[in-house]
Amino acid sequence: MALIVQKYGGSSVADALRIKEVAQRIVATKERGNQMVVVVSAMGRTTDQLIDLARQVSPQPHERELDLLLSTGELVSCTLMAMALRELGHNAISLSGAQAGIQTDATYSRARILRVDPKRVRKELDRGYIVIVAGFQGITEEMDITTLGRGGSDTTAVALAIALKADHCQIYTDVEGVYTADPRLVPEARKLDEIGYEEMLELASYGAKVMHSRAVELGQLYNMPILVASSFSQTTGTLIHGGMAMEMRNKVSGIAHDTNVAKITVVGVPDRPGVAAALFEPLARAGISVDTIVQNVSIGENITDITFTVARSDLHRALEVVKPASQSVGARECLTDTTLAKVSIVGTGMQNTPGYAARMFRALYEAGINIRLITTSEIRITCIIDEKLIPKAVQALHKAFELEKV
Ligand code: ADP
Ligand code: ASP
Ligand code: MG
Repeated sequence: MALIVQKYGGSSVADALRIKEVAQRIVATKERGNQMVVVVSAMGRTTDQLIDLARQVSPQPHERELDLLLSTGELVSCTLMAMALRELGHNAISLSGAQAGIQTDATYSRARILRVDPKRVRKELDRGYIVIVAGFQGITEEMDITTLGRGGSDTTAVALAIALKADHCQIYTDVEGVYTADPRLVPEARKLDEIGYEEMLELASYGAKVMHSRAVELGQLYNMPILVASSFSQTTGTLIHGGMAMEMRNKVSGIAHDTNVAKITVVGVPDRPGVAAALFEPLARAGISVDTIVQNVSIGENITDITFTVARSDLHRALEVVKPASQSVGARECLTDTTLAKVSIVGTGMQNTPGYAARMFRALYEAGINIRLITTSEIRITCIIDEKLIPKAVQALHKAFELEKV
């Protein structure tokens, strides 16, 4: 008997019919003699609607209240799923994240899982029950409910699979697996049969929202293979794992794009030791990730500009700390730009191989796209461009790197 953790995303459980269809898939796997833990996301666009509702009441909703509110989305879908399974004659029980033992720190809206205590889940499995767990949420030591960040149900599933030492961890979604680019932007995008953790982590961190990046990180850390597949079909999907064959590593694997980008430029900062620390330490303390940092060389009067990007959803909080910090170092002003986005090429084969950057820049140039900022890692090159040009850029790069070909 295998223990399988499955996760179904929002569009897979968007309405009553979809919930009943997914319940049938769960039953089919259970009846093949498996133990089942199923993590569900909120139905359809519920989370967006709840955020919208909160903002109508309060433009900057209180973070504790917002997390408790958002956690209700997943409670709705997990209880309905348990009911649907009971209708099919199976014993099933729904558990909130807290009941399932998902313990987190207290950073609301992006809480990190500290530990998983799967006692209750095990007890229910031992009784022969199918266990349905509300994704995306946990509980702090103070018994407050937290959420794990947008897309966080993937992370719930992988964390549970690790804690339960599951035999399989399967993420079911509305596409057939991980593609060479978002198939909604690039119709020729090709489904990958497998991908390594490192590449998937870069793709997810740079916008490929098919997987929550922290779920991939956990998978890599604990060596838990993750299958990504469609909840709408029976196709095989993509296996994310650590044992990729060497030949698979010789080119660009995929293209990611991310429109959740805001640029901040601190203008007219004195060019002296300590200034960068004074700007970035408060951001770190506020738990805001900073990406793509560029400091110009000062000309003449030892005055320079520092530009960096944060997630657009963090801009408000970032400015709350950057503005006072830039005043304290004597900067002239703080400018923001929310019309930009990132496009990245990712592939372990780029390591120590010249030519990839040049090819990327040429493809963007030939598509008439101006590059504003560039950053790289060992296996990724990212260009920051106009958000409006993202579809064109992703398509041009997909073609330039011949990703439609195997
Ligand atoms: P779920 O609700 O199941 O968690 P998401 O909407 O979070 O689903 O993620 C699936 C979506 O991710 C797809 O519909 C697709 O548009 C998008 N996506 C972006 N990049 C990729 C990629 N490289 N491969 C597959 N899907 C991608
Ligand atoms: N419902 C949450 C969201 O929309 C979590 C998830 O879907 O994974 O972000
Ligand atoms: Mg998702």
